[in-house]
Amino acid sequence: MMRVSCGGPGKGALCAGVLALLCCSTMKPQSGVIQQPDAYAANDRAPDARFKADILVVLAHPDDETIVAAYLAREINDSQKRVAVVYGTKGGGGNNNVGPEQAAAMGEIREIEGRQASGSLGITNVWFLSGHDLASQDVLNSLEYWGHGACLEQLVRLVRLTRPSVVLTLLPDFTTGENHGDHQAAGVLATEAFDMAGDPTAFAEQISPTHDPDRNGNLTEALRAWQPEKIYYFYNPTHDIFTGQGPQYSATEISPSRHESYGVLAARAFTYHRTQGGDEAERMIERHEAETSQNQELSEMMQPVRLIFGKSLVPSSAMDDVFAGVVAGGISYRPAPGFTAVEYSKPALEIGDPWSYYRKFWHAHGLDHLADIAPPEITIKVGGSLTIPLAVENPLDTAISIDLSVQAPDGWKVASVTPVSIEPHTRHYLRVQATAPQSKMPGWQQFTVSANSRGIGIGTVRVRAELSAGWVAPQ
Ligand SMILES: [Zn+2]
Repeated sequence: MMRVSCGGPGKGALCAGVLALLCCSTMKPQSGVIQQPDAYAANDRAPDARFKADILVVLAHPDDETIVAAYLAREINDSQKRVAVVYGTKGGGGNNNVGPEQAAAMGEIREIEGRQASGSLGITNVWFLSGHDLASQDVLNSLEYWGHGACLEQLVRLVRLTRPSVVLTLLPDFTTGENHGDHQAAGVLATEAFDMAGDPTAFAEQISPTHDPDRNGNLTEALRAWQPEKIYYFYNPTHDIFTGQGPQYSATEISPSRHESYGVLAARAFTYHRTQGGDEAERMIERHEAETSQNQELSEMMQPVRLIFGKSLVPSSAMDDVFAGVVAGGISYRPAPGFTAVEYSKPALEIGDPWSYYRKFWHAHGLDHLADIAPPEITIKVGGSLTIPLAVENPLDTAISIDLSVQAPDGWKVASVTPVSIEPHTRHYLRVQATAPQSKMPGWQQFTVSANSRGIGIGTVRVRAELSAGWVAPQ
């Protein structure tokens, strides 16, 4: 075979030169002129099928896939579904259970652990966004620290590249439990990308045909806009927020093709996350295999995978199977409802960020039902502090004076709140702070904050707290 060297900056044009020779049989003389095939036609090639996904899983950290790994093992092994994974960060935070490496160095290790764990499930298309691991409960802290815009651009690109029918991601909500702001950020970005990837005006450079496909230096990407059909969420809260919210999938069921339970396949994937789990997953699998099927260890891995229905752009109810209604070949773009501004006619007290943000976010993305999953709630470490962020709207032409009254559970110390004057046509921010008791109190710790202006109530905010003696991320 003849070798052709193109060298220099046009090295990528080697293929075009070879192609021109190989394709000579297709040249058609017209009016005595030899016509070269127009390389611009490369823009019309079919998208690279190696990257097509049925499910795109959007996560924050390597090991987050563990929560749904039993479900993914089911779809990959026994329904021949193609799954791709995007991690928002490399997971450079937290402790290392194996070696001395920390921070960015540990992030490099965890990237490999994430690729190995995903690979063991049968997932080889794995990407990492440029976000950074941050320990906080507040999604807005994570979005700021990650670089919200840059990560969204990257994720929209990956949705267009992988063309998923279904997006599976962490719940964008503030609940008790681990309640990691990074987890919520993954859910926010995935929801935004779900609604943007099909919009040809969003990151339009990604879907612009390349100018010179036969040369280097192309500045646009020649992807196609893509509208995913369904989005589902999952989470690891301390109480049940899943019942009636979406389909569930057994982890104890045996995979017909792998002859092991889906939960054990998930546990095998987790064994790769040594910096996070040490060798506990191996021990757990050994204990599990030593026991009879009537006496299975009810580990976290063997619990059913419970999903929360986000939305479907094809006919499907919340409890239907994830792939119910999915249309082969995809669907056309369906815009999300978008943000709607509230018009205030009288003063009002509201809960502040991040709860305030989520109300607007859910509505903007057609997810209002997520507001019914859990009331405003938070986990606070014993002896720690709780901040209840508040906002008062004053749409009047005159200033108003506000008095706050706070009902707090026994054992909490609430800082005094002095009356405030709020200027006309102003949104005023204030907060209530409370110090938790030094020991764990059972049950929900209910706080009620009421605001009065000249003796007239302008609103009530309720927040419930759960006390934990364990590690709790900063609020
Ligand atoms: Zn995580």
